[in-house]
Amino acid sequence: MGIVWTIADHRGGRLNPQTVELIAAAQELAERQGHRVWAVLAGTDLAPLAEALRTYRIEKVVLLNHPELAYLSAFPLLQALRFLAERTEPPAWILYPHTYRYYDIGARLGVAFRAETVSDVQRVVWEGSEPILIKPTFTSKFIARIRLTGPGPHVVGLQPGAVSADSVRVDGSPEVLHLTPEIRQAGRRRLLRTVEATRGKVDLAHAPIIVAVGRGIGSKENLALVQELADALGAALGASRPVVDAGWLPFEHQIGSSGQTVAPKLYIAVGISGAMQHVVGIRGSKVIVAINKDPEAPIFKIAHYGIIEDLFKVVPALTRKVREWREKGLLGA
Ligand code: FAD
Repeated sequence: MGIVWTIADHRGGRLNPQTVELIAAAQELAERQGHRVWAVLAGTDLAPLAEALRTYRIEKVVLLNHPELAYLSAFPLLQALRFLAERTEPPAWILYPHTYRYYDIGARLGVAFRAETVSDVQRVVWEGSEPILIKPTFTSKFIARIRLTGPGPHVVGLQPGAVSADSVRVDGSPEVLHLTPEIRQAGRRRLLRTVEATRGKVDLAHAPIIVAVGRGIGSKENLALVQELADALGAALGASRPVVDAGWLPFEHQIGSSGQTVAPKLYIAVGISGAMQHVVGIRGSKVIVAINKDPEAPIFKIAHYGIIEDLFKVVPALTRKVREWREKGLLGA
């Protein structure tokens, strides 16, 4: 019986929505292995963030408050986490968000805790009480299934969407533990300025519906057709890599091993062949619909519904139908 730490990421006074997915994963792990869950917040002015975590079924929300933690940086954060482990008890598992901000931190966590680290996890499946961590390897040409054995701590970096937030238990009232960690050596980097990247209308990683377009669309001009379907459905627009490489859509739309991992309720792939590097990014989708004129396209192997037809016929017809349903109030607001 140990503790599962969930590193609760935040920025600009707001929790990263992926934190809920991490908590759901930690709860599952705790339930199957008899552990307890702690959510760990590091930074300054953490009280409002702690409040946002107060309803989850976890044992403790730990606040590591220190001015050196105001900017997320591996060096002070690791000192704070080691302090927490020494003052309380070492964790059995550490779950962190595998995002750009944590790439270096994940690796260093493994070193700091003498732990086995598995980053870039795209899915978790269970064999009894054992989590099997699924991640791409060799530039996504292979998928690795990893079981961590032996005593912990084990450090795991989960991609956004690797675990669904739907199963999170919200019937708790965790104790809040305030700690001021000793940070003997200051961080070795200083944040000078943050420039917010231009963002699209919707965050693909958390969009409930995605319409994604592939090379089959043929040209940038034809994108309007797919955008109309996305608009009718209230969906986010995703893309395969060739669409982005051709400059038809910006990189933030790219889905797959070198783009975003997504886990919508509905994923509609339009003119996408279903290459491994694309598929690894969409496996978490609840329902996948593929529109492709080639009956042999690999996308049909993972699609729940397939439409073998020219997209230029299907997409406008589908858009018309969706608008009609919406006008009749059959699709909600
Ligand atoms: P294609 O494979 O060319 O498929 C187009 C499909 O459209 C075909 O199946 C065709 O039958 C169909 N089609 C054509 N015309 C029509 C029509 N009129 N109606 C209906 N269907 C039609 N790819 C990604 O998507 N995301 C990534 O993150 C990514 N990362 C990569 C990383 C590395 C290191 C490497 C090597 C590759 C990566 N790729 C990635 C590229 C990947 O290997 C594929 O090349 C890419 O996914 C193919 O995109 P596509 O399906 O749009 O195009």
